[in-house]
Amino acid sequence: MQRTPIIAGNWKMNKSLQESVAFAQELATHLANVAGVEQVVCPTFLALAAVADALKGTSIAVGAQDAHWEAQGAYTSEVSAAMLEGIAQYVIIGHSEVRAYLNETDERVNKKIKAALAYGLKPIVAVGESLEQNEAGETESFVSGQVRAALDGIDAANMQNIIFAYEPIWAIGTGKNASGEIANQVIGGTIRATLASLYGDAIAQTIRIQYGGSVKPDNMAEYMSQPDIDGALVGGASLKVDDFKKLVEVAAQQKGG
Ligand code: PEP
Repeated sequence: MQRTPIIAGNWKMNKSLQESVAFAQELATHLANVAGVEQVVCPTFLALAAVADALKGTSIAVGAQDAHWEAQGAYTSEVSAAMLEGIAQYVIIGHSEVRAYLNETDERVNKKIKAALAYGLKPIVAVGESLEQNEAGETESFVSGQVRAALDGIDAANMQNIIFAYEPIWAIGTGKNASGEIANQVIGGTIRATLASLYGDAIAQTIRIQYGGSVKPDNMAEYMSQPDIDGALVGGASLKVDDFKKLVEVAAQQKGG
C-alpha cells in the first residue's frame, strides 16, 4: 500500500512572529523542488495566520499545535478548531506535552478530534507511552487504549483525514530515539493493528502513522526504511531549515513514490 509520507514540524513555543514568517519563507524556497512528501509546519498560535499567508501557493501546509472543541466561549487562553478553519490544514492533538502540562485527557483528545474534523482540519493525533510504562511492558496495551479512546464515536468515513504519530514520551526532546525496528513494531503491530480491529484492514492500511521522538537528519533514513512508518512528527530538528529540508529529502528519496 502506497501512503504519501508526511513530515510535520512542531515548533512548540519557539520563534517570534517575525522569526516564524522569515523561517517559513526560507523553508519554502528550499523545499520548492521536493515532491511526493506532504510538508507541514506548526507554529505558535501567534504566528499561525502570518505563516499561513507567507506559505500560500507553496508546497508547505500549516498546522496548529492544539484546538479547543467548543467553537467559542469563556475558555480563556484557548483557540477553537472553528477559528482555525481556512487558516490551518492540520492540527496536532494529544501531544504528550499537552497531556503532561495541560492535563489533556483521552476524552478531551476525542472531542478535539471530532471538532477538528467538523471544521475541515486534519488531526495529527499523538500517542505514546512513558518510560515507566515502556519498562513495565505496557506499551502495547497503553498505546492501543489511547488510539481506541481517541477514536471513540468516529466513523470510518473520517479515517482518511486522521494521521497518527507514535511518540514514545521517553524519546521526545531527549536525544534518545526508539530504534526504527521498535518504532515500526509499535506503529504496525499495535497502532495499525488497533485501527484494523476498529475499521478493518483495508482502511487501516491507508492511514498514515508517523514516528516522533528525537528524529534528526542522521536517523531519518532508519525510520523511513521501515514499512509501517509514514513520516515523522519533529520538534527540535524542525527549527533549523537545513535539518528540516534534509528530513523531507530523505522521506522523498525513500518513500516519495
Ligand atoms: C515532538 O515535539 O513531537 C518531538 C518529537 O520533539 P523532538 O523531535 O524534539 O523529540
